[in-house]
Amino acid sequence: MNAILENKKVEDNLRGFERPDSERHLNDDISTKIVDGLVKTVSEKFSIAKEFYKLKAQLLKQEKLEYYERNVESGSVDKEYSYEESAAIVEKVLEGLDKKFGDIFKRYLDKGLIDVYPKKGKRGGAFCVYVTKSQPAYVMLNHTGRLDDVATIAHEMGHAINNEMVKENQNALNFGISTATAEVASTFMEDFVFEEMAKEADDETRLSLMITKLNSDISSIIRQVACYNFEKELHEKFRENGFLSKEEIGKVFQKHMSAYMGDFVKMSPGSENWWVYWSHIRTYFYVYSYASGLLISKALQRKVKQDKGFIENVKKILSSGISKSVEDIFKEVGIELNEEFWEHGLKEIEDLLNETKELAKKLGKI
Ligand SMILES: [Zn+2]
Repeated sequence: MNAILENKKVEDNLRGFERPDSERHLNDDISTKIVDGLVKTVSEKFSIAKEFYKLKAQLLKQEKLEYYERNVESGSVDKEYSYEESAAIVEKVLEGLDKKFGDIFKRYLDKGLIDVYPKKGKRGGAFCVYVTKSQPAYVMLNHTGRLDDVATIAHEMGHAINNEMVKENQNALNFGISTATAEVASTFMEDFVFEEMAKEADDETRLSLMITKLNSDISSIIRQVACYNFEKELHEKFRENGFLSKEEIGKVFQKHMSAYMGDFVKMSPGSENWWVYWSHIRTYFYVYSYASGLLISKALQRKVKQDKGFIENVKKILSSGISKSVEDIFKEVGIELNEEFWEHGLKEIEDLLNETKELAKKLGKI
């Protein structure tokens, strides 16, 4: 880690970058001011995560959660979803958002651009792959009928839809998507499918769905910003003091992890070393992009829920590729990526947390 920090320090010096995170912002075509605003707004709302872990500890009948227990499931969803059934749900949601989204999905289904089932020799996980403007994109899944698998179709189709829209509207040089917004379309579609499924579920299932959703939102937004803060202090400390022992790194790590987890997650012995497996800190400040992508997506969802016609602006954003900076793409549809905008996104999570608490109370679980 010290070698990595030293290397970054030398590179930044040679290239004239003022801050350890400047290079990342330039690379992603997003201004430092926007990322600073994001990190500040989310850091001020760590209370959402703290409240969530308190609720989770209560639901699991624990006084406190161990550090490694924070992602443990609460309740389970047994229902199985066949691929046909899952595709029908996703199609309905995409159609409902915009005919264009539905049409793209139908084309992927008809043309066999989706590889659905696990098979021998196929890698795990799911992703959408595209190379150039002239080549088709493909979606790879490993559908096994779990509820998560339905959301995964929507997520990967979000990437595919984004790709198709850029393809249609941009030249080869502007064919691409900034890291800062790479997960906007995917999580946008995924969240709407999640809501559709939650609508139809009974209370018990809905509660466990909502906990799962909060868990992933908090891990992808709040935890990543806490990690960003950790990285910042790590580089600063190294630049001030030189070599850092693993104990010193561990202390900085724990400080930032407990800052967002709060009193209901224990900093279990050994958890001070958990930065070791976190590969993203070796790609410098990449983690903010999860938070920016998801919060942009959530703020856009909020706007679409308030005004269905706003979807036209979402389509414009998804069609822009890398023709302009992230800032200008959003300015064009009247959105300033300022603290107020990030708050809109966080409000979506806060609302879900409050609904979840209400439901848990109604079911007599807390
Ligand atoms: Zn994705």
